[in-house]
Amino acid sequence: MCIIDDVRSSHFFDLIEKGLLPNFKRLMQNGIFSKTCVTDFPSVTYPTQCSIITGTYTGDYRHELCHGVPSYHWMGRYLAPPFLRNYGAPGSDELIQIYKMNADLGENCQTLLEMTGEGNHSSITQFISRGTDYIYPENKVKLGLYYEFLQFAMRNKKRAKGLMALANTIVVRKLIDNFKRPKKYFKSNEPPIGSNLWFMTSDVIMHLFGYDSYLYKLNLLHIDKVMGILIKELDELGYLADTAIAITADHGNYKAKSIGNILPFYSRTGLTNYHPKKNVNGNVNIAEFGGVGMFNFKGSNDAGNEAYWSRPSITDLEKFGPKKINIFEELFKIKGTRLMYYREDGNTYKKGTIHLKRKDQKSGKIFSGKIEYKGIGKEFKTRYASENDENDIFGFVRDDNASKLINGNFYSIDEWLDATHHLDHALYPDLIPRHFKNPRSSDVIISTKGSVIYNVTHGKPQSGHAFTHDIGLQESIILPLIISGSPEIPQKEISHCKTTDITPTLISMLGKKPHESVVGKNLI
Ligand SMILES: [Zn+2]
Repeated sequence: MCIIDDVRSSHFFDLIEKGLLPNFKRLMQNGIFSKTCVTDFPSVTYPTQCSIITGTYTGDYRHELCHGVPSYHWMGRYLAPPFLRNYGAPGSDELIQIYKMNADLGENCQTLLEMTGEGNHSSITQFISRGTDYIYPENKVKLGLYYEFLQFAMRNKKRAKGLMALANTIVVRKLIDNFKRPKKYFKSNEPPIGSNLWFMTSDVIMHLFGYDSYLYKLNLLHIDKVMGILIKELDELGYLADTAIAITADHGNYKAKSIGNILPFYSRTGLTNYHPKKNVNGNVNIAEFGGVGMFNFKGSNDAGNEAYWSRPSITDLEKFGPKKINIFEELFKIKGTRLMYYREDGNTYKKGTIHLKRKDQKSGKIFSGKIEYKGIGKEFKTRYASENDENDIFGFVRDDNASKLINGNFYSIDEWLDATHHLDHALYPDLIPRHFKNPRSSDVIISTKGSVIYNVTHGKPQSGHAFTHDIGLQESIILPLIISGSPEIPQKEISHCKTTDITPTLISMLGKKPHESVVGKNLI
């Protein structure tokens, strides 16, 4: 399983058509490929990669078969005072919190490597490593530093080119050596039965220099080159005929029109940013806000423990904080806000309603809609409706296929996939309620649809660029997929699929059954 971080499908296949990715082209021609593989919500590195690797989505991980990672940053409200999870930052007891992710996935799902069962397993620079026998770099400190180092050192454009080549080469060289000298890495002298690879250089370069930069394109050419080396070596070692190589990305990308400042939100509302040590009396936590903002608010029902953050009721949010402000109105005052999603009071993991709002760009009028959900696991279905029949929240009514599903009936994820894969916010009627079922998710989510980005993590503005990837537009959510290698793999184009289909396809090729939590289906 090879994840190239931050690659938009249209960019990838354009480079193939131009003849610039010859190795990927050969794999594409000799295997399964799709130009429309839909990722998870939000289209951000760790939640999407967790879904790819487990073949399932997030949800109420305590009660359901699903994984427990809703976003890159979230608030752990089950402790009082709550803790702040940030997979990119140091924790109190760890070098960086990213190592919590394997445990955060929960016990109600399995990773691809756990599903493959007996045999050796290898994870090369991939942090989601449950079920692995060998991890490169060999210890957590080194792996943490590796990622941090790349992000820091590549800011220097001259140095970036050499570093990206080195980082890509290491990924492939390490895996080849796993096959050549298994005894050195594993207890038994058998090559790995399953391996995870993560090329992170593409994401680092995209954020720093943009998807349209020379360096970003050059880097994809280089990843093609090193993958060519891997294929050649596997062939010479006699393993290629028995190997399936899946190549995909975790999210695409976009460039925001402007970078916004969140600080006026605090002064206008009188709310203060919660921090477990620096401001324990804070009443708001903006877990993350690029083009998509995830807001936590302290509810009024603390059950006698002042440090406890209950979920606020809708009534709480309509008269919130010292100024008794209406949160739903205030969030639309944040420059660029166009969409809003929040829970109905009393939702459970079995049944509930998510409220939707959309601000019309011309009239400034706010329209409402809703997603209702019921059932768990494979029975999960959702119903989507809007008050304005001619101009709904996600713009589905203007499409012949998608509009057919707005009729008062409940639909499954694959029905939504068939009807919306070609549209902005594809799959959102299914993905949004799954996200809100996770108790780690926030109270209110807004989206600027990329018009403005804020670069905020846990309430604090960060330095950042206009290039990112969290919104629901096609360029941000549609990924390439190739599954190829062994001549046993059929040659076919799949018109559309979802990222959770990859793991069950690979597991089925091994003649095994995917874990019962898996939502994706076998593409063969
Ligand atoms: Zn990513």
